[in-house]
Amino acid sequence: MVESEYNIKEMQQFLKMTGGLYDIVRLIEPKECREITIEDGRLQFQDGCYNVWSSEQRCKNCSSYRACMSGIRREKEEFYADKVFHILSNPVHLQIEDGTVLDCVIEFITSHTASEDEKQRVNHRSSEQYESATLIDPLTGLLNWDGFHQRARRLLKDHPDEPYLIVASDIAQFNLINSLFGRERANDILLEIARIFEPYQSDDTAVGRLQADQFALCMPKSRFDEAVFSKHIYDVNLLLDDSAFRLQFTIGIYEIKDRQLPVSVMFDRAVMALVTHREDHSVTITWFDDSMLEELLHQQEVTSGFERTLKSGEYQIFLQSQVDADGQVLGAEALARWVRPDGSIVPPLRFIPILEKAGLIAKLDRYVWELAAQQLSAWKTTPFSGFHISVNISALDFYYIDVYEAFVGLVEKYDIDRRKLKLEITETAIMSDTEKQILRIRDLREYGFTVEIDDFGSGYSSLAMLKDIEADILKIDMAFLRETEHELRSRQVLKSIVEMADKLNMDTITEGVEKPEQVRMLRDMGCNMFQGFYFAKPMPINEFEEYARARI
Ligand code: C2E
Ligand code: CA
Ligand code: CA
Repeated sequence: MVESEYNIKEMQQFLKMTGGLYDIVRLIEPKECREITIEDGRLQFQDGCYNVWSSEQRCKNCSSYRACMSGIRREKEEFYADKVFHILSNPVHLQIEDGTVLDCVIEFITSHTASEDEKQRVNHRSSEQYESATLIDPLTGLLNWDGFHQRARRLLKDHPDEPYLIVASDIAQFNLINSLFGRERANDILLEIARIFEPYQSDDTAVGRLQADQFALCMPKSRFDEAVFSKHIYDVNLLLDDSAFRLQFTIGIYEIKDRQLPVSVMFDRAVMALVTHREDHSVTITWFDDSMLEELLHQQEVTSGFERTLKSGEYQIFLQSQVDADGQVLGAEALARWVRPDGSIVPPLRFIPILEKAGLIAKLDRYVWELAAQQLSAWKTTPFSGFHISVNISALDFYYIDVYEAFVGLVEKYDIDRRKLKLEITETAIMSDTEKQILRIRDLREYGFTVEIDDFGSGYSSLAMLKDIEADILKIDMAFLRETEHELRSRQVLKSIVEMADKLNMDTITEGVEKPEQVRMLRDMGCNMFQGFYFAKPMPINEFEEYARARI
């Protein structure tokens, strides 16, 4: 069987189906060594799976544990009560009701009475078999991953009526500390943090370092004092006194509502909480709430259903007009939308960053480019034959596909005028990469595509970039049109950009134009093209055609 993902119902069917083929088939959550049964479509976590071997704790060489941790199927023999058990451990992912995915193992077990030979082997091996796994982190002396899970589970059992928390901590970019200051210094910092958390270790609290810079506490809610933890964070941040790097220590907290959940899932939720505010340096302690799970579910919906959604045509392009100084339509920008079967529309900011993180953005982009090329081809014999379409290129596209070949391929496939396909590349995309990318962009221009620098002025390196990259059009970020206290200054900056573009032989387009006075001002400055709600919002293709017919 191949490693794969099941939902609860599928798993139940699978267990039933294979049940007759072996002496025992069971589902195990190996991180805490719990057998999982499914009753009425719900998961029930039983006590230690090792009970069947009448052992008190996980075997040192538990094959299920290894299968789960490595994601590779393993085999093993156990001897018990004169019998040999042959165990096949298959890693599987089990998606539970709330969208969380548990790493589990299905054990297929056959048994037979041991022969004399085999009995000999038992005697030889039994001494090592039930030794406990190591539970202590050698660096800090706190509990390690295993130790923390075991102890947290025990605490929750021993204090059934006491509200409990899982507290997780994280240092932003810890790997950088390692490389900037060396391993020893990084270890010192970890030891200092351990010293701060160590005093919490007690009869009702577990403290561990689970991996690298991740510390965790499982503690009664009544013992948690937010002000004291803020002080801990403050103290940790002072551990590194260096102008080149600022330590950024954050904490996430999950208040345990469902005690059945694996401790690893509880810990993940605490981490999920701290990650939500990673960008916002002013927030150092974040409590998990259900909206974070909804976000996770949304992310899973975007990524796991992606291929299907793409095939079913739910991803579409909307067109937003780009006009000249007289308001005549010159073409449009193609903007991706996810139109769900119920008609609801998901905006790109709700799926593009997720697809970028999941390494799927190039597939969507290629699809969007294809739709744009198809549209240009469809317009060839219509009143819209003069229109261009601008498409967006994500910085990551360059890593996954040959952007040049993709576009040239589309021009050939649809036999379209290459100048009509405009490519919008953000300045951060251009700056974040290498020579190679710059050369690729040059190739695209040489072939005849129009290259636009998108969101110009929103990054930090706008001007520096202009000396290295040759592009045809500067697309000025809408931030310049936002009303600020420094109206006059931002107007002067805008004016200088338009003038500079002119000197560099580049056209300008300003996006985010919402008011007539903005159009007037930009026109006076010499800006050639405009895009914004003042003219039109992004709309489905047929609506765009209707709108454009009157403005050609
Ligand atoms: P962008 O490329 O800067 O696109 C312009 C965004 O500004 C669009 O948002 C558009 O609806 C919005 N906008 C246009 N005029 C106005 C205005 O007058 N006022 C205001 N407040 N907003 C205006 P949208 O469609 O939500 O797209 C957001 C971003 O998502 C895009 O920013 C682009 O970075 C990305 N995106 C959209 N489609 C694609 C795609 O197919 N591939 C990639 N890689 N990114 C895409
Ligand atoms: Ca754009
Ligand atoms: Ca833009």
